Amino acid sequence: AGFSQGFDARAVELPGWRHVYSGKVRDLYEPVDAAPGESGQSANLLVVASDRISAYDFVLETEIPDKGAVLTQLSLWWFEQLQVPHHVVSLDVPEAVAGRAMVVQRLDMYEVECIARGYLTGSGLAEYRESGTVTGIELPEGLVDGSKLDEAIFTPSAKAEVGEHDENITFEQMARLIGDTPAQRLRELTLDVYRRAESIARERGIILADTKVEFGLDATGRIVLGDEVLTPDSSRFWDAAQYEPGRAQPSFDKQFVRDWLTGPDSGWDRHSGEAPPALPADVVAKTRARYIEAYETLTGQTFTP
Ligand code: ATP
Ligand code: MG
Repeated sequence: AGFSQGFDARAVELPGWRHVYSGKVRDLYEPVDAAPGESGQSANLLVVASDRISAYDFVLETEIPDKGAVLTQLSLWWFEQLQVPHHVVSLDVPEAVAGRAMVVQRLDMYEVECIARGYLTGSGLAEYRESGTVTGIELPEGLVDGSKLDEAIFTPSAKAEVGEHDENITFEQMARLIGDTPAQRLRELTLDVYRRAESIARERGIILADTKVEFGLDATGRIVLGDEVLTPDSSRFWDAAQYEPGRAQPSFDKQFVRDWLTGPDSGWDRHSGEAPPALPADVVAKTRARYIEAYETLTGQTFTP
């Protein structure tokens, strides 16, 4: 990644770290006095998950208290469950961001979002309704919103600039972007992550419908799992007890936010191009509770802010 977004006023000053990039949700920092490696870049980065929330490709002006800590703690828990090399180096982070930050290996990220789907919904369902395929993969006829697929599929997308929508691509397009061998390897690793996480979630009564992971190369050229993993921001978690194909499934994430934004009370038109309004307090509280519930149900641990 080129880290071209530069300064974000919402990123906080942290002693010993210099802000280098802000995505929709996370702020990245590099050590101020790092001895640069061969590439002239520091070996490590500090990744700070903010309480920002995005919906419909907008970062909302309202934050969800503790969301960044919940996502960081959940990611860390998953990194330990997965049997894939990951980027976490330490939790030795500045006091001001304790709980919501981790020190990671700086990776040369593949510009591809690696998505695995075990169930059909969202952009996969939209493509299926048009063409009977998802990122070019043919699926049987008669599937509906929420249908379980016989086998999980790998459906990559190309990373878009901030404010734009990621675009689904075929495996062949991905292979042209990053090379055949890496594409095959990322597909394997992504499906491994999905299958393992799906079975862990299922034991806890949660369906992992789909998930997005990102990989990069470390300084030695090894493929490493980066970013956040298996959080409600990167995955669709459904309550297995309420699962009912043929309709949209209630999910453990931004459901309240999306419902309110697209409902009559927000006064917002999703297709107007205008930024969404601030969220009311009850939507914030319910969303916060939902993120915490996801963390606690999946990990079996109590969330302490
Ligand atoms: P974008 O990727 O366009 O910034 P985003 O809104 O998803 O979109 P965030 O998730 O908020 O961004 O920010 C995290 C950023 O850090 C992502 O760009 C991600 O690819 C990058 N990233 C994650 N892990 C690493 C790593 N180990 N080394 C370098 N970059 C990383
Ligand atoms: Mg991201």
